[in-house]
Formats: sequence, C-alpha cells, structure tokens
Amino acid sequence: MQAYTYVSKGKFELREKPKPTLMQERDAIVKVTLASICSSDLHIKHGSVPRAVPGITVGHEMVGIVEEVGKAVTKVKPGDRVTVNVETFCGECFFCKKGYVNNCTDENGGWALGCRIDGGQAEYVRVPFADQGLNKIPDGVTDRQALLVGDVLATGYWAARISEISEQDTVLIIGAGPTGICTLLSVMLKKPRRIIMCEKDKNRLQFIRQHYPEILLVSPEKCEAFVRANSDHGGADVVLEVAGAEATFRLAWECARPNGLVTVVALYDQAQILPLPDMYGKNLTFKTGGVDGCDCEETLRLIAEGKLNTEPLITHTYPLERIEEAYELFEGKRDGVIKVAVEC
Ligand SMILES: [Zn+2]
Ligand SMILES: [Zn+2]
Repeated sequence: MQAYTYVSKGKFELREKPKPTLMQERDAIVKVTLASICSSDLHIKHGSVPRAVPGITVGHEMVGIVEEVGKAVTKVKPGDRVTVNVETFCGECFFCKKGYVNNCTDENGGWALGCRIDGGQAEYVRVPFADQGLNKIPDGVTDRQALLVGDVLATGYWAARISEISEQDTVLIIGAGPTGICTLLSVMLKKPRRIIMCEKDKNRLQFIRQHYPEILLVSPEKCEAFVRANSDHGGADVVLEVAGAEATFRLAWECARPNGLVTVVALYDQAQILPLPDMYGKNLTFKTGGVDGCDCEETLRLIAEGKLNTEPLITHTYPLERIEEAYELFEGKRDGVIKVAVEC
C-alpha cells in the first residue's frame, strides 16, 4: 500500500509499504477513506518533534472503515465507519480512568499514531486499543463532517471544556488556524456574552468574517486595547491561546482580567517566559497541556444534531498520490487554505 513516510528531517515521501496487520488483540485495522494534514505533521517534518521515529507513516487525523479487529475488541466490528483518535490510550490506567487520556501510562499512550507508530496518511492504519481509539460515525454524518473529530476538533472541544466559560464571560481566542476555529466552534456552544478572536492572517480573518459574522475580530497589535474596550472588567474573563507564536503567550495573559483564566492550547517551538513579577497581584489561573481526546462520541453526536460543523474548514481535497502538492499548499498557506483532506 501507499504510505506517506517521515524519511528524515525535512523529508517526507510517498512509499510502498506492506499493509499493516493485527499485532495485539485490542488492535483494529482501519481502511482509511479520508485523512487530513495537521500542523503537527509539519512539526515532525521540520524535526521539532524529537520523539517522532524516522520511517513511520505520518498522519494522525483520519476516518475510515474497520477492516479487521483483534479478539478483545468489542465496540467496533468490520464494516463500521469510524473516526480515529489522535491519542492512544488504554482506558484502564489511573489517568485514563480520570479522563486524562493524554497521560495514559501505556508505552504507546498519548500521541503515538503518525509520530511513534505508523499513522494514517496511507491506505490502511493499525489502531491500538481500538475500543478506545475508534468512534462509530453516526448514520447521516459524512466522512468530511467527521474528519476533524479525532484531533483538531477534539483539541478545541477539550480547550473549551476545561476553560470554565459562563454566559457572562468575554472570551478571547488567540489564533484562528484550524485548531483556533475548532476552539471557537466549541466555545460558541457555551454561549458566552462575547467572543473576540485575535489573528494576523488576512485569509483567516476573512474566513471568520464570512462564516461567523457575530465574532469580534482584532489584529495582535491592537488586541490588548480592543479587549479592554470590549470587556466588562478590564480584560477577557477567559483567554484561550491557540496560536503558539513568539509573542502570543505574553499577549494571552496581558489580555486576561485580574483573576481570569488562561488556557494554553498552543504547542510552542521555544520555551516561554512566565514573568511572575509583572503579573504579581493579577492572580491568574493558567491551564496548559495537550488534548485529552475523550469527547469524540459527544462531538460526533453534536455534529449529527447539526450543532457543530467543521466541514467548511476543509477548503481543499487531494488524492493520496498527490499528497506532496497538498503539503506544499498547506505549508505555504496558499489559496486561503484552512484544512486539506486527502482521499486515501
Ligand atoms: Zn494534529
Ligand atoms: Zn491508560
């Protein structure tokens, strides 16, 4: 089968590989119908994910059809249409039982697919702990509607869930990339008083303006003053930092009101400074981390009910043979791209 492979730093290549087989009794083999490209794939390509193993198939956001299951798999069966979770988790350890699946203590726990084990920009993928990692796509929900459930939507939904948002709040979201937009959609479900999005990219601003006209938009330079003028208590009640750019961590806590909550979703390339003397007395709460992707059943239900819709984010579609071009477009942020789907 064809599999897009991490060869070495800076180099991905479409290679011929054997079709994966069951290795454990809790595994499933999934025939990938649609995969997508994520900015974390680019992080691997650029060598900024040290745990990524050269030779692995990349891709960690995909949907498909179950082809084969191990003896211990009970929730899915061959023929089921499923989403694949970005995270691998056993469902049984201390952290899994608390819902902190990102910290699953299994050796492959956390983000393994398309990083430490073969992922899904390929015709087939082996999914460990299939009962945990796969969710059935409800009838009436298409592959395109479900494509982002396992990764960027899981991240946005988790970020909104842990941010303790109330209907009186002014919420600032920094970064309107795919994860930022999924965060926005999930925050909208909480019905806060105002949502402000901070973004510098013109295409992304245009996308938000077109699809979500009720959202207040601002550029990073004007953000602090704008948030102050458009909130009730001198800053945002809740800030979600999804950009991960050089100055956005500082911007996030500067825009929060005293006693506000700052959720850091972004993955930074560099260490960030937490200047405690500057924020003394502001009494902020920070929440940080990587997604606990255990709400996929819930988000699929919301999609089926028409309450969540990530399909407009898929701006481009390519066949697997042309995945190289898809990466070029995504990496170059050309042609107003938000998300690229790859037909496998
Ligand atoms: Zn990702
Ligand atoms: Zn676990």
